[in-house]
Amino acid sequence: MRDRNSRLDTGRGTVSFAQYRYERAAKAVAKLIIATVAAAAIITGALFGLGRIAHWGPFAPGIPEARYSAQSWNTIVVNRWHRIPDDYPAPELTQLANGQQVDSRIYPELQRMFDTMRADGLDPEVTAGYRTQDEQRQIMSDRIFLYENQGMSAKDAEREAGRLVAIPGTSEHEIGLAVDLNAVGAADAEANQQVYDWLAANAWQYGFILRYPDGKTDVTGNQYEPWHYRYVGADVAKDIHDHGITLEEYAR
Ligand SMILES: [Zn+2]
Repeated sequence: MRDRNSRLDTGRGTVSFAQYRYERAAKAVAKLIIATVAAAAIITGALFGLGRIAHWGPFAPGIPEARYSAQSWNTIVVNRWHRIPDDYPAPELTQLANGQQVDSRIYPELQRMFDTMRADGLDPEVTAGYRTQDEQRQIMSDRIFLYENQGMSAKDAEREAGRLVAIPGTSEHEIGLAVDLNAVGAADAEANQQVYDWLAANAWQYGFILRYPDGKTDVTGNQYEPWHYRYVGADVAKDIHDHGITLEEYAR
């Protein structure tokens, strides 16, 4: 029998039994911490590897999905930071006279707006409506090819193209709710400007908003595009127009 104050030899000279017990517990805790950290590092490393190689898990590269619900389909925010969700339903499309297509839900208001524009002496057309992701990918690679032909490195060409063309999966044209609107022919800058001016003043009344306003690039991620209009519905369009905000700010 030894009491609490008995001395024992631990190989490092004589220490009290209480101190020996304390040191042993401290070593056990330290070992546990090292083992936990090592396990966490191994798991993180494995997930990271899976993400980069198999594009699976929390470290998979890419852009997070936009929030989407069927009830609020008209306010989905797709931009360079939020891609179209994988489960986004393929839109039902309506084909226009010039061959362009739009989501059928925006067609009646688009038609009504065009009727008014024509009555006001304008001659507008949809120069770009719905696009598949493959078509968007083609536009991107055409642009990169163009820049490379102008002498840019592959990396620079990709970066420059990314400033003007939406990355496939992040273009509003791929959901069919956006239209590029110009004057028929589209080569006449004056005629286009008349269309843009009319739209800036009136499109909201038909549920369409100027999606990329001047001076809002840091919010929308896009340069000013006076031709690109997005359907959000009459109530939301009025709200956005009245407050001079963007869809990103409205949806926040
Ligand atoms: Zn556009």
